[in-house]
Amino acid sequence: MKLTGDYHTHTNYTHGTGSVEDSVRQAEKIGLRQVAITEHSYKGWNHIKPGDLPKIKHDIEEARSKYSVDVLYGIEANLMSRNGDIDISDEELKDMDIVVLGCHKHSHAKLIEKIKFFLPNLLIKNPSKKQIERNTMAYLKAMDKHRINVLAHLGYAGCRVDCERLAIECAKRNIYIEFNGKRINFTKSDIEKMLKTDVKFIINSDAHNPLNVGRNHRAFNLIEKYKIPLDRIVNIDGRIPEFHRGE
Ligand SMILES: [Zn+2]
Ligand SMILES: [Zn+2]
Repeated sequence: MKLTGDYHTHTNYTHGTGSVEDSVRQAEKIGLRQVAITEHSYKGWNHIKPGDLPKIKHDIEEARSKYSVDVLYGIEANLMSRNGDIDISDEELKDMDIVVLGCHKHSHAKLIEKIKFFLPNLLIKNPSKKQIERNTMAYLKAMDKHRINVLAHLGYAGCRVDCERLAIECAKRNIYIEFNGKRINFTKSDIEKMLKTDVKFIINSDAHNPLNVGRNHRAFNLIEKYKIPLDRIVNIDGRIPEFHRGE
């Protein structure tokens, strides 16, 4: 199993420790064909500032001219509400090669969403069906309203979802479900249910340090443990994923 690309990485525009070029250099060094720069969007705990996107784009263009690895311009948008709002405009997404969506702790959400969405997820260890339904609906609404290509680290920040339902809807929309190199929150049953659908998976490092680009041992362990068929994974063994641009 050899990774062809890493589609979820962070840099020092937020709380990563290296530059865009550092990540690209590392991707080239370890033989990846593609790497995406997907910084935390505007309302994460650590987030880009207004005016950062043109700078990131510029850094990516510079890296493209210096290295042969293909560099994708993207974002990790935050799921901000029960209504599927995200923290970046659809106009800004149009320009991007890839849009990753994640739910995080401590997002700068509206107070009502902190109380009704984020806090219960963080505080309640065994969420009710209603809470899981509400989280699942938040993702589905985001997928309906915005251009999304990858659902990152499902289950993180206590945001438990109905993986089967999301997988069915992701398959219809060509959205990939991520096996995150650092954060795996899937249960055996989640994996079994997702495998019954047509959804495809993508392996991403979520590197916050350039040396972690392409490092995905947790994802690889998961694949081995649950004997996940390798043809369900879009970024290994020479395969390059396609990221739809919406519409
Ligand atoms: Zn994330
Ligand atoms: Zn991330």
